[in-house]
Amino acid sequence: MIQAPRGTVDILPGETEKWQLLESRLRSVLSRSNYREIRLPVFEHTELFKRGVGETTDIVNKEMYTFNDKSDRSLTLRPEGTAGVVRAYLSHGFSRLSPPVKLWYCGPMFRYERPQTGRQRQFHQTGVEAFGSDGPAIDVEVIVLAVDCMHALGIEKFDVHLNSIGCNVCRPVFKEKLKEALRQHLPNLCTDCQDRFERNPLRMLDCKNGSCQQYFTDLPSSLSSLCQDCRQHFDELLRLLTLVGVPPVVNERLVRGLDYYGRTVFELISDDPRLGAQSTICAGGRYDYLMETIDGPHTPAIGWALGMERISLLLDESSNTSPLAFVVSTVSDVAVELVTKIRRAGVACDMDYPPTGTTARPFKRQLQQADKSGASWTIIRGEDEIAAGEVTLKNMADGSQTKVSVEKLIGFLQESAGKSV
Ligand SMILES: [Zn+2]
Ligand SMILES: [Zn+2]
Repeated sequence: MIQAPRGTVDILPGETEKWQLLESRLRSVLSRSNYREIRLPVFEHTELFKRGVGETTDIVNKEMYTFNDKSDRSLTLRPEGTAGVVRAYLSHGFSRLSPPVKLWYCGPMFRYERPQTGRQRQFHQTGVEAFGSDGPAIDVEVIVLAVDCMHALGIEKFDVHLNSIGCNVCRPVFKEKLKEALRQHLPNLCTDCQDRFERNPLRMLDCKNGSCQQYFTDLPSSLSSLCQDCRQHFDELLRLLTLVGVPPVVNERLVRGLDYYGRTVFELISDDPRLGAQSTICAGGRYDYLMETIDGPHTPAIGWALGMERISLLLDESSNTSPLAFVVSTVSDVAVELVTKIRRAGVACDMDYPPTGTTARPFKRQLQQADKSGASWTIIRGEDEIAAGEVTLKNMADGSQTKVSVEKLIGFLQESAGKSV
């Protein structure tokens, strides 16, 4: 039997309702801040990710699904959303629109990683990107948006961690200070860290190797190296976040290792036991220099992304999705007609489907089906009811029965469905 590929998951009925709810709540929060959805291809030219994600990252080096198509173009299944959004922003001349241009996306991403709980090779992300504004007000909006998305999903247990990694003026100074402090420990650090020391010392702080972390306890902070402009941006951001009731945890160890990031970096970190250890449920930051790395004009930008699988672990089980009504009849024509009529009146309804060559299955069998369906009302239309132009309406909760005309039935069901007309 053919199995689904490793690292992929079938999202089945029962679970899909949870995803629909998740998506609709996120959509509603994002649209009330005037973010508009963008839907992009799941594959792009490999070059885009090499430049837009960074050739030194694990994502690009180890985790991409890259293939040559039949015309020998190198294509890659998108490992994240931002590079594609930036590419589309440039392709469609969005820089001519009045800034900020505020976009969101949602969809599958692909990374060749070791599968684990909440982390698959095909996974889903929702993200926002705001282009064209460099002031702290947009940083606040983007961070509050992430917080409000969590609240809309009923997720309350998390902290907003915030840091500034400076700009092209002050970050090189910080990097030098960092290297100075780390140089003495270099022989004790892992090969990845040693490799990053010259090329990108900030990324050393992200090292997953536990034995390296012990040498990182007493390092200079990026905040102490900020230039006056960056300091002012950060202070203003702190003030505004406090003003809107989202006081952050200033976390000087929070970094993004790539040179196209600047100033604000943030993560929403939850200690919910359902996620295992303390973990990041949303990550974002400013990427003021990314547009230039893919040949666009300098465009300040900020965004975040959240992993839908991880978030869905924090949501309670999905709601009941049974039909409201179930039609039972001794004549299948009658059932087909009535079911169609009820559905067209906007009410969820189902019936028993007789096999070829029969007009209807035995009454008792159909009633069992009605029971299994979880419907609130069973609508019985036997010979007697047909002759009288009515139906027997059975309340499945208490077993009580009443007779009503077909005309009154529709109105009753609509009302019961909360859709009275
Ligand atoms: Zn600066
Ligand atoms: Zn290391």
